[in-house]
Amino acid sequence: MNKIKVGILGATGMVGQRFIDLLQSHPWFEIAELAASEKSAGKTYEEAMEGRWKVSAEIPNKVRKMKVKECKPNLDCRIIFSALDSSVAGPIEEEFAKNGYVVSSNSRNHRMDNDVPLLIPEVNPEHLSIIKKQKQRFGKGFIVTNPNCSAMGLVMALKPLQDAFGLKKVFVTTMQAVSGAGYPGVASLDVLDNVVPYIGGEEEKMESESLKLLGNVKNDKFVYADIKVSAQCNRVNVKDGHLEAVNVELGRKATLDEIKNAFKNFNPLKKLNLPSAPNPPIIVREEIDRPQPKYDRDLGNGMAVAVGRIRKCNILDYRFLVLSHNTIRGAAGAAILNAELMKVKGVGLNRN
Ligand code: NAP
Repeated sequence: MNKIKVGILGATGMVGQRFIDLLQSHPWFEIAELAASEKSAGKTYEEAMEGRWKVSAEIPNKVRKMKVKECKPNLDCRIIFSALDSSVAGPIEEEFAKNGYVVSSNSRNHRMDNDVPLLIPEVNPEHLSIIKKQKQRFGKGFIVTNPNCSAMGLVMALKPLQDAFGLKKVFVTTMQAVSGAGYPGVASLDVLDNVVPYIGGEEEKMESESLKLLGNVKNDKFVYADIKVSAQCNRVNVKDGHLEAVNVELGRKATLDEIKNAFKNFNPLKKLNLPSAPNPPIIVREEIDRPQPKYDRDLGNGMAVAVGRIRKCNILDYRFLVLSHNTIRGAAGAAILNAELMKVKGVGLNRN
């Protein structure tokens, strides 16, 4: 099978590096283009990355000598994975879509557009149907987005509960890793020996994105889920992996075993055999003190979500902890899984 050529915008950033790491031996996709800001453009990838490669021991040989280009829509590839800073991502991603590319984006800029799917393949694959509305804006190309890294873990855990019991109210308090702020991110003197109880815009994103993801598409319009979500977000001194304490009120009563089984039996992508899909997508930790970022963030190659400490809540119905890897499941891995779903569903990726 000829591999589909892909380009990475923002290839030099935290998420861009993850894309390279995850795509270097992908069975369907081949890294053909790397692009970033003017500061990096014109250099080889290894020159642009001097002192900045952080996701593994070595920059993969395949990309070391590749020239980093500017983010202009003249790249030789079919899919664009965007890990651009949100201050510039919006118009650049639109330019690529207008020029016929399939854009799978991590950035927040288009997530809430009324013609753009905010997609988690296990949660709302039917939202891909909205893409036809983008024809008026972009012609042949289009944009698909994945959620914010903290909304990702939360919604993966809420979906099986919503399907089985209905959901009315959600309280969530996050403990988010420093890699979520990009590189160099939060200054060490601010986060060492500390918890920073504010991440700009994060609570709003969690509250709004969750409702779009858990909602429906009716008559080519998004219908947001009727759930009350209240989020509090904190930056903690952890490298990778967002931990979230969640309390839920369900639509109907459920036993503890029913709740655990809803998580354990959730595996909607099993038959599709997508290369990046974790199997199972949710792993229930039964130990009293798990999940923990250090031990559980790499479950399912960083694509699985760990749920633990599931127990009754004295105010709402149940409470539990959720953990997901923020730059894999919450960013690069999510965008790759979205592209894999589009390929098997025949959405926009029928030519190389
Ligand atoms: P980052 O480490 O700061 O990287 C930003 C990237 O954007 C770099 O490659 C940078 O290139 C490029 N860039 C900056 N200004 C540019 C310009 N004017 N033109 C072209 N390229 C430009 O950020 P990150 O953490 O990887 O995040 C990337 C995106 O993913 C953001 O939108 C973020 O919100 C989102 N996201 C991040 C996470 C996470 O856990 N980190 C999770 C989900 C979503 P240079 O190196 O050349 O400056």
